[in-house]
Amino acid sequence: MSEHGLRKRQFGHRARLALSPACELKADAQAHAARAMWNLLHAWWQMMPKEKRTLANADAAIRQARTDIDFLAVLPAQAAQAVLKTYFQAWKNCWDGRAEAPNFKGRFRSVMSVDIPQGRDLNVVRVHRRWGMANIPKVGRVRFRWTKDLPVGRQANKENRITGARLVKDALGWHLAFRIQILEAMPEPHQGPEVGIDVGVIVPIALSDGVTKNHGGWLTPQETSKLLRLEQRAAQRKQHHNPGERTSRRLHHTYDQIAGLRAKAKRRASDWRHQTTTAIAKQYGTVVVEALTITNMVKSARGTVELPGKNVAQKSGLNRSITGEAWGRVVTMLTYKTAQYGGTLHKVPAPNTSRRCSACGFITPGSREDQATFVCKNPDCGWSGNPDHNAARNILHLYRMGLVLIPAAGRAVVRRAKRVKPAAAR
Ligand SMILES: [Zn+2]
Repeated sequence: MSEHGLRKRQFGHRARLALSPACELKADAQAHAARAMWNLLHAWWQMMPKEKRTLANADAAIRQARTDIDFLAVLPAQAAQAVLKTYFQAWKNCWDGRAEAPNFKGRFRSVMSVDIPQGRDLNVVRVHRRWGMANIPKVGRVRFRWTKDLPVGRQANKENRITGARLVKDALGWHLAFRIQILEAMPEPHQGPEVGIDVGVIVPIALSDGVTKNHGGWLTPQETSKLLRLEQRAAQRKQHHNPGERTSRRLHHTYDQIAGLRAKAKRRASDWRHQTTTAIAKQYGTVVVEALTITNMVKSARGTVELPGKNVAQKSGLNRSITGEAWGRVVTMLTYKTAQYGGTLHKVPAPNTSRRCSACGFITPGSREDQATFVCKNPDCGWSGNPDHNAARNILHLYRMGLVLIPAAGRAVVRRAKRVKPAAAR
């Protein structure tokens, strides 16, 4: 046991399921029932006068629906309860300003999922080095890929256990997303160096010490051309498709293939993000990032009328859709991973990090986006170098100046002068 004591940690783990066709149909039916339940609940909510929209009334309505409507019965009672809970939480999130108001879930636009709120129902065991087994209510006993040590069998106790799971379907099939809680030793405070990180326009992630975290394309050239071919084929078939007509089996197959390739790219991107953020959290004690909005990033790829962005085509489409969602996730991952390894993450305000020269502090007005080299316009300096690393050093500099955003305040509150170091970074 560590001298720093123990702490609870909750995390998720997603395992791919190997389902028989029969089980897959059962899981599909449950997910459709869960979605129907959500839609019924939403219709009920809209119909009810305000004072009757209570959890107890909703619960009674759900129970009634489950006895009246046959196909809702395939959904286990606990999963139905979970839908109710999620729906009320969605309203809470909306009232607190965290999300939009809940809406109906469309058949093709929503993620297929079923909640399994009780971890003990799963009865997870490891049966092989690479395989585990779990019970899914009303589906049966299923195999899943064992890629992470889960607290099961003798390792499971009150503090270390699987608390629940969620069945989720994507283009690669059904997965089990476990919710896990463990008790672990508090990490020693991380003694590693400080680092500033910039999400690059030219490189994906630039660190202030000059290290670049790079990745290739998410798909191989063969896969990319296959995706293009499939997309063209789908577009052609769509032209011959009359509105209201049933989508052909072949077109459905093409859509599935496209979705499969996109999911593959997404999975590789997520894998890269996980590996990169883990490496950063292990190496550095203090990680500083820019408080950046994603819309800014997408804009920067496009550029402005006077200064159009470079490689806009590459940054648009699939790559951009992945990059666009990436930065928020990288920051989320860094937040919990730095905490896990005893480090800390800080956010600094964004303005001028790309315009400021990290060697002399001179700010050159105008946009510096999409330039291959940063050149300082200060006649006494003239420093030039990689603009992304320059920005990363500026981010670290802002932290050292004590300009840190305090997230708990919910808005940009700047903490002053924690520790002042000379303006020039390495
Ligand atoms: Zn300079």
